[in-house]
Amino acid sequence: MSRVYNFSAGPAVLPEEVLKEAADEMLDYQGSGQSVMEMSHRSKVYDNIIKEAEKDLRDLLNIPDNYKVLFLQGGASQFFAEVPMNLMKNKKAGYILTGQWAKKAFAEAKIYGEAVELASSADKTFSYIPDCSDLDIPEDLDYVYICENNTIYGTKYKTLPNTKGHILVSDVSSCFLSEPMDVTKYGVVYGGVQKNIGPAGVVIAIIREDLITDDVLPGTPTMLKWKTQADADSLYNTPPCYNIYICGKVFKWIKKMGGLSAMKEHNEKKAKILYDFLDESKLFMGTVVKEDRSLMNVPFVCNIEDKEAKDAMEAKFIKEAAAAGFVNLKGHRTVGGMRASIYNAMPIEGVEKLVEFMKKFEKENA
Ligand SMILES: *Cc1c(COP(=O)(O)O)cnc(C)c1O
Repeated sequence: MSRVYNFSAGPAVLPEEVLKEAADEMLDYQGSGQSVMEMSHRSKVYDNIIKEAEKDLRDLLNIPDNYKVLFLQGGASQFFAEVPMNLMKNKKAGYILTGQWAKKAFAEAKIYGEAVELASSADKTFSYIPDCSDLDIPEDLDYVYICENNTIYGTKYKTLPNTKGHILVSDVSSCFLSEPMDVTKYGVVYGGVQKNIGPAGVVIAIIREDLITDDVLPGTPTMLKWKTQADADSLYNTPPCYNIYICGKVFKWIKKMGGLSAMKEHNEKKAKILYDFLDESKLFMGTVVKEDRSLMNVPFVCNIEDKEAKDAMEAKFIKEAAAAGFVNLKGHRTVGGMRASIYNAMPIEGVEKLVEFMKKFEKENA
C-alpha cells in the first residue's frame, strides 16, 4: 500500500493514526460485536461516543458552559440558511465579503431578509482581508457574518472585525481547530468538518445559549431550528453517527499532539516552508497579500505573463506533481492556478517534499 500526499481542500487528508484505529475497530467496536456504523444512535455505547466527542472538543477549545455544541447535517451550505432562519429577528444582517463562501452565505441571507454588505475584497479578487476595525455598521443588524478562512482564495482574518456590539457569526470550516480560538468572541461558530476534522457529512456548531430560541423565522423547518437540535443534544433524529465517531478520534489525536497551541505551531512551520519558497521562486508565486495569508490553504500560480503559456505550465505542473504522488493541487474551478491545502493532518514532510518537487520542476522548466 502506498499513500499519496493529498493536498485536497476538502474532503481532505485525515491523520493516518485515526484511520488505522477506525480500521481496527471496524468489525467490533470495543467488544460490542458491532461496527459503529451498525449500532443504534440511542444505545449506551453510542451515547458515550458522542458525549466524549463533545467533551474533547470542549476541552480543546475551552468552550464555556453557556455555549451549546451541536453536531448537525446539511453541510456548511445549509447553515448559510440556518443562520438567518434562527437569528434574523429584525430581518437585517451584515456580511463581510471575502470570497465565494461568504458570497454564497450573503445570497442565501437575502432570501430571508435584508443582507447588508459591510465590506468586501472583491475589488482585488479577494486577495486580502478588508480593514474591519471601524466599519459603518447599522444599529439594527441582527448579526455580523464572516467567513474566517477563505478556502478558495487563501486568506484568513488575523484579527476579528469590530462588530460594535453586534453578534459575530463565523464560518470556520477550513480553519477549525487549526489554532486556538476564543469562542467567547462569537455568538455562533460553525464549520463543515470535511476540511480539517473528519469525513464529510457533519457540521459542528458552537452557539451561545441565549441565541437558541423558539423565536425563529416563520416557516423554519423543525430540523433546522437550533432549539430542536439543542434540546435533543444533537439526537433529535439519527445523526451521522459514524462520522461523528471519526471526529471524536481526531479530537483525541489533536489532544495527543499537544492541543491547539501545538497545532498552530505545527501549522505555522509547515506554511512557512511553502510560503518562503513561493517568495523566492521565479516560476511560482503566491496570490495573496502576506499579512492575510491562510495557514491552511495556499493558492499559487505560475509567474508567466502570456496566459496560454501560463495555463500550459500550470497544467504540466499539476500533472507531473500528481504522477509524483502530490495530488489534488489544482486550484478551485472558479480561480484556476494551484492550491495546496495543508490542513492539520498534512505532515511536515509532505510540504517539504512538495517544495523539493517544485524546485526540481522549476529548474527543469526554466
Ligand atoms: C467547503 C466550505 C463550505 C461548503 O461546505 P459544504 O459542507 O460543502 O456545504 C463553506 N464554507 C467554507 C469556508 C468552506 O471551506
